[in-house]
Amino acid sequence: PDPSDNIQNTPKLLSDHLKATEGKIVTRFPPEPNGYLHIGHAKAMHLNFGYAKKNGGKCYLRFDDTNPEKENQEYIDSIIDSVKWLGHEPCEITYSSTHFDTLYEMANELIRRGYAYVCHQTAAEISEGREKMTESPYRNRTVEENLKLFDDMRLGKFEEGKAILRMKGDMKHPNPCMRDLIAYRIKYHHHPMSGDKWCIYPSYDYTHCLVDSIENITHSLCTLEFEIRRLTYNWLIDVLGLYRPVVWEYARLNLTHTVLSKRKIITLVQNKLVNGWDDPRLSTLNAFRRKGYTPEAINLLCDTIGVTRTNGTTISYELLELCCRQDLDGKATRAMAVFDPIKVVITNYPEDKSEEINAPNIPSKPEKGTHKIEFSRIVYIERSDFRMEDSKDFFGLAPGKEILLKYSYNIKCEKVIQDADGKVTELHVTYDKDNTSKKLKTIHWVSSAAGTEPMKAEVRLYEHLFKDSEIGDDWLNNINPNSLRVIPNAFVDKTVLASKEYDRYQFERVGYFVVDKDSTPEKLVFNRTVSLKENKEK
Ligand code: ATP
Ligand code: MG
Ligand code: MG
Repeated sequence: PDPSDNIQNTPKLLSDHLKATEGKIVTRFPPEPNGYLHIGHAKAMHLNFGYAKKNGGKCYLRFDDTNPEKENQEYIDSIIDSVKWLGHEPCEITYSSTHFDTLYEMANELIRRGYAYVCHQTAAEISEGREKMTESPYRNRTVEENLKLFDDMRLGKFEEGKAILRMKGDMKHPNPCMRDLIAYRIKYHHHPMSGDKWCIYPSYDYTHCLVDSIENITHSLCTLEFEIRRLTYNWLIDVLGLYRPVVWEYARLNLTHTVLSKRKIITLVQNKLVNGWDDPRLSTLNAFRRKGYTPEAINLLCDTIGVTRTNGTTISYELLELCCRQDLDGKATRAMAVFDPIKVVITNYPEDKSEEINAPNIPSKPEKGTHKIEFSRIVYIERSDFRMEDSKDFFGLAPGKEILLKYSYNIKCEKVIQDADGKVTELHVTYDKDNTSKKLKTIHWVSSAAGTEPMKAEVRLYEHLFKDSEIGDDWLNNINPNSLRVIPNAFVDKTVLASKEYDRYQFERVGYFVVDKDSTPEKLVFNRTVSLKENKEK
């Protein structure tokens, strides 16, 4: 799966390209700044930047900014930020709009060569003509007339929609993309880069190939839905007699349980079905970042899935989570947190005593050091780690049973205190300061200095945003109502004290968590990045 496989039949073409670029591979990542990047774009970047880097070439970050009404500076800034975050280094940041003058000149040349005409058909008439393979009545104007009318378009003499410039392909061609696609349309709209200089803007089909040619792109990599447009891509460059890159298509990344489309993501954000572009339930790169994903985890997924030309395959979200765990295992400091606490009183531990216990930062990496956690007479354990009835497969505490509090002491449950409804409110235990019994089952816990309560934090637990793995057409009715669960007052050990945004932890036996931007000095907020695969104890 290597783009160069595709051009093996065209060695001559490639050698010409490489002359133009002094032998270098040149690629581009060409987002339209009409939204935030999503994880699908990570695949596109991995391929474009990765392929150039692997071959000692270079890759542009190019903003394909030809639809000013949908584009803005906020999106441009966020895209630059996401590209950097993933670790990619564009040789240069360019804009299709930088070339508006050149593109305009080329359009005039296209008219002079007899390959473009000004058309006044309505959008409906144009699509009908395309469908029925009938020509526009304006198709056979003279070059002079077309040059004049195109200039009138530029000068603002027409209302929007009253005149467009069309490429003169072949209305009878079996590929609909050859049937006189639009090259320029009128839009009285301010542009983030070119301001109010233009009221005509070039289309994607017209712009993309020409800017690829202008930038001497050797390998123009795009997703498979553009395959049908390869013919016009080549046609336009050829009729203008310009340098032609090789186009190579690959499959879009699809992920289960989520949407990868800027349009759909915008709908979710605008209808407040999520809380903004970086809501951790979304598939934007900002969302994954906020959720605690690392760039390495995302690039690892891209490596793992490779590049294929098989369309319609959907990668399981679990594979992404696997990549994430694999990366975080050696990076996230261990800490302990209890979400739904039961108070445990150690009756034979002195009331006014506390001690500090050493816990490894990363158990598999002793060189990463240790941190200290507080231990005293009152300890909190997870409600799910206690049962009135013990069983073989149960790791937790039960009446009369002895277990190990991770990194500290064995405790034995002596007494269970329940309220009127039978809910367990407190456990009385004794501890064995010599840990005489070995190989006990182990649970996590949180304590604090004698006479104090442990630190509290808000924890946000995320599930898939969509219920079904394959999001159907009725996707807006497929939203999972339980995609966010908030634990307002979890107990956390003092390891996390003084953490800042993006600090990562593994809460032992629970999962990986990251400090959210909503944290305050009084209260930290954690997002669950990914749960641990299983509650396996070692
Ligand atoms: P969207 O429908 O989400 O807006 P797009 O293709 O219109 O996607 P662009 O900004 O034009 O978005 O994308 C920039 C580049 O990223 C293009 O080359 C596009 O083919 C590629 N790309 C977009 N989505 C994916 C995806 N899911 N998987 C792989 N590449 C993608
Ligand atoms: Mg696009
Ligand atoms: Mg798009």
